[in-house]
Amino acid sequence: DVVVEAPQPVPQAPATTVKVSSRDRLIFPESTVTKGDLADYYATVAGIMLPWSGRRPISLVRCPQGRGKKCFFQKHDAGSFGDHVHQVPIVEKDGSTENYLWVDAADGLVACVQMGTIEFHGWGSTVDHLEQPDRLVFDLDPDEGLDFGDTKNAAEHLKNQLAELGLTSFPMLSGGKGVHVVVPLTPQAEWPAVKSFADRFARALAQAEPDRFVATMSKAKRTGRIFIDWLRNQRGATAIMPYAARARAGAPVAAPVSWTELRDIDTAARWHVTDAAELIDRATSRALAGWGVADQILPDL
Ligand code: ATP
Ligand code: MN
Ligand code: MN
Repeated sequence: DVVVEAPQPVPQAPATTVKVSSRDRLIFPESTVTKGDLADYYATVAGIMLPWSGRRPISLVRCPQGRGKKCFFQKHDAGSFGDHVHQVPIVEKDGSTENYLWVDAADGLVACVQMGTIEFHGWGSTVDHLEQPDRLVFDLDPDEGLDFGDTKNAAEHLKNQLAELGLTSFPMLSGGKGVHVVVPLTPQAEWPAVKSFADRFARALAQAEPDRFVATMSKAKRTGRIFIDWLRNQRGATAIMPYAARARAGAPVAAPVSWTELRDIDTAARWHVTDAAELIDRATSRALAGWGVADQILPDL
């Protein structure tokens, strides 16, 4: 008997126990992506997203009526997201304690979508080692006039400078305009030391090439330059998580890429929430093998 192989099914969203209401609500009106589509996207990519986004304090960009309507950034909550969204009490600078959110399963991601979440931003440390970051992120923010090629060259430059310090780094498309250069760390040094390293590293690059880079937030100084936003690397700061959707036109997502792939990519919004199957294929591809993994600590700078 001839066995006919079934065509490869498109990965189905794994069953989640979280009920999503108003599945037909348009969250990205210009690309017909609904709340149900977004919930299915996160359920589908949970397996490749959670290794980077799970078990760390998250901040959410919630747009309950869709991305064109009112959106807000949410850091704390006292339980309205349900049992799948966990809380960790964190003492703030002013001595007060706030409950931050974290997730560790598809159900948690979907529970956040049920509450109107589009974007997931995360700390550079996990709930297991809150005071000891497990990653540095250099967020490259090009001035309006620059093109993506400039941003890619800047990312490559950071990669080389980091390599000179013995640090392995990985690029991620933000899904917006820029590229994030991610440096995995073995959780050991605490926030003040990590922040200080990021500050001094970014300032050294800007001093060496002041026409190309700035390391201060001031918009005025950014004209024609790339802002090396090192401020993601302080306690309480967040950056967009790998595979998180962005509340921008066309429903783009933040996507890890290899340094080789980056050379041939011409936009930071290369993949979208409609590309879950491709993203999963990519995540297990040779190009992305080992992405984001390196057992390393910061050198003295
Ligand atoms: P792009 O590539 O377009 O710059 P991005 O994600 O890097 O995309 P940025 O504007 O550079 O966007 O923001 C950097 C980070 O600052 C965000 O990823 C987020 O974690 C944090 N952030 C953004 N908005 C807020 C906010 N309202 N409150 C606190 N933190 C924010
Ligand atoms: Mn940015
Ligand atoms: Mn920024």
